Amino acid sequence: MKRVLITGAAGFLGSHLCDRFIKEGYYVTGMDNFITGDKKNLSHLEGNPNFEFIEHDVTEFVDIEGNLDYILHFASPASPIDYLKIPIQTLKVGSLGTHNLLGLAKAKKARILIASTSEVYGDPLVHPQTEDYYGNVNTIGPRGVYDEAKRFQESITMAYHRFHGLETRIVRIFNTYGPRMRLNDGRVIPAFMGQALRGEDLTIFGDGSQTRSFCYVDDQIEGIYRLLLSDYSLPVNIGNPNEITIKDFAEEIIKLTGTTQKVIYKDLPVNDPMQRQPDITLAKKLLDWEPKVGRSEGMKITFDFFKSLTEEELYKSEHKDFSGYINK
Ligand code: NAD
Ligand code: UDP
Repeated sequence: MKRVLITGAAGFLGSHLCDRFIKEGYYVTGMDNFITGDKKNLSHLEGNPNFEFIEHDVTEFVDIEGNLDYILHFASPASPIDYLKIPIQTLKVGSLGTHNLLGLAKAKKARILIASTSEVYGDPLVHPQTEDYYGNVNTIGPRGVYDEAKRFQESITMAYHRFHGLETRIVRIFNTYGPRMRLNDGRVIPAFMGQALRGEDLTIFGDGSQTRSFCYVDDQIEGIYRLLLSDYSLPVNIGNPNEITIKDFAEEIIKLTGTTQKVIYKDLPVNDPMQRQPDITLAKKLLDWEPKVGRSEGMKITFDFFKSLTEEELYKSEHKDFSGYINK
C-alpha cells in the first residue's frame, strides 16, 4: 500500500485530498496545527484504518517514521484575511515549512507536490494568466507575505529538483470553493453566503469590477491528483476559466440564496488583483483535465453545506467587516 503525507489536512483542500487518496487505496498520514483548520473536517475519518493524524507545526522539523511515497504540502493560511492576521506564520510555513518537507521528501525518496497559487501572478498585467508569466507582485504590500512565501516556495522546490534530482510537482491553484470552507475565513464565497444566511447586506470591496474565476473543489482535486501522477515538474495552473466580476457574482448569490438584503460597498483592499483567469491550455494538454462542474451547480452544493451549519457556527463570524483591517 502506498503512503502519502498531506500537510494542511484539517483545512479545506487538505481534507478533500485525504478523502481522495483514501478512496484511491492509499494510506494517508494527515498533518496540521489547526491554525486555520478545523478538526471537524477530518472527524469522518476517525477510526479509518487507512488514516492517521499527526498534530504538528510544519515550520518545526518534521519527523515521520517509516516509508513515504508522496508528500502533498498544503499547509498555509489561504484567505487574505487569515494571512493579514498571521503574516509571520504565513511567511514561515511557505518558506521554513516547505524547506522541512523538501528535506523529508529527499530523505524518504518521496515525490512532493506543493500547493502554489495564482497569487504568484500578483495583480496580473497578462490576461488570462499563463504559466510563463512572471507576475506583478508588491513585495512589501500587505499581501506580499503570502505571495512572496509562495514564490519562494516555488523557487526552493525547483532548486531541490535541479540540484538534488528530487521528484517535484507545483500546482498553481486558482480560487477554489466548496463544502468545508470556513464560513468566517473572509473569502468572498463564504462571506457572501454567510451574510445571506444571517440576513446581512453583502459587502462588495471596491466597485466590484474586479474579476475572479471560481473552480469547484472536486475539479481542483482531480487536477491535483493527475498532476501528482504525471511526470511534469514545472508549474501547472489548475482552475476554472469561467470569469465573473464580483458585482455580478453578488447578484448571482442574491438569486441563489433568495436573500432580500442589498449590496453595500467597502474599500478595496490594497493590491487586490483586478482580474484573474487561469489559462488552462497546459493542464488540458498534459493532464487531459478540464473542470466539469459549472458555477451554478457548485454554488448550490456549497450553499447547501453552509445552510447545514449550526446557529453557533453561523454567528461565529470573526470577519464580518474587515475592510478597515485589510488596508492597515
Ligand atoms: P485552509 O486554511 O482551509 O487550510 C490550510 C491548512 O493548513 C489549515 O488546516 C491550517 O491549520 C494548516 N496550517 C497552516 N499553517 C500550518 C503549519 N505551520 N503547520 C501545520 N499546518 C498548518 O486553506 P485551503 O483553502 O485549504 O488552502 C490549502 C492550500 O492551498 C494552501 O497552501 C493555499 O495557499 C493553497 N491555495 C488554496 C486556494 C483556494 O482557493 N482554496 C487557492 C490558491 C492556493
Ligand atoms: N471580496 C468582496 N467582499 C467580501 C470578500 C471579498 O468584494 O466580503 C472581494 C475581494 O476584494 C476580491 C474578491 O472578492 O476582489 C475575491 O476575494 P477572496 O478573499 O475570496 O480571494 P482572493 O482572490 O482575493 O485571494
